[in-house]
Amino acid sequence: MEEEWQHLKDGPAQLTDVEYERVASAFVPPVYQALADTDLDFGTRLAQNPAFARWVARNVQPHKVPGYASVVLSTKPGLASPPGDVTAEQMDAVAGWSEQFGFGEIRIAHEQNIVLPDVTKADLYALWCLACDQGLGSANIGLLTDIIACPGGDFCALANAKSIPIAQAIQGRFEDLDYLHDLGDISLNISGCMNACGHHHIGNIGILGVDKNGSEWYQITLGGAQGKRSALGKVIGPSFSAAEVPDVIEGIIGTFVRYRETEELFVDTVQRIGLEPFKERIYPKALEVSA
Ligand code: SF4
Repeated sequence: MEEEWQHLKDGPAQLTDVEYERVASAFVPPVYQALADTDLDFGTRLAQNPAFARWVARNVQPHKVPGYASVVLSTKPGLASPPGDVTAEQMDAVAGWSEQFGFGEIRIAHEQNIVLPDVTKADLYALWCLACDQGLGSANIGLLTDIIACPGGDFCALANAKSIPIAQAIQGRFEDLDYLHDLGDISLNISGCMNACGHHHIGNIGILGVDKNGSEWYQITLGGAQGKRSALGKVIGPSFSAAEVPDVIEGIIGTFVRYRETEELFVDTVQRIGLEPFKERIYPKALEVSA
């Protein structure tokens, strides 16, 4: 590594101040209004409307400019459509909102959600109402049903197994939003093959489609993470059939709830107790289902 660095250092790939300035000049910030900052806890409105409060808590992120916020529109409405899918009508609506509530900018996050980066806090309620009407108002960012799933065997010629029906079967099992909020942050990522377009290996729960003698099976990993605490998940054991996966996920969540300490995150519980308690719970369960 050190040798390679000495070889590359000060070479043609060196980032110069001139090049830095050239690139930076292409990223001119929009002309923000001078607004008084408002706490995201808007007091009476949040107290009167728990659904809006929940959406603000999960889907609205702080902004560096006073009076503004960044909004994540969830494309994971549960059984209504596959994770990450949006219709032409929804795309038209989002394009309009990006003009109405921002500076015409839309970002797509790798979690397969839509970000409107410059919404004034005063507009959040109006945007939430419109997002709900369009099926883009789910308050589930970072929760178990905010699943990243690749297209898998339904659309991808490289797949070993389908991803979308697995994602939807899990979403159907966990429809109680209150329960999901109680569980807190849990990422669940699904890839239909080792190419890992669904980033299964860095999901707190990872599901990888594998081929066994021409049939579709699913290998589960636990403890993966993205961001500053990034980690690769560990395989918990032999893979499962598609029909078994929702029961297995339920068993994993049940084990988490049993061993969780107050407000502990799923990934922290996995790190603290290891894989054994999860294995003890889900392998007998899977055998029952298979029988
Ligand atoms: S992970 Fe595999 S199946 Fe899924 S989109 Fe990528 S190549 Fe296709």
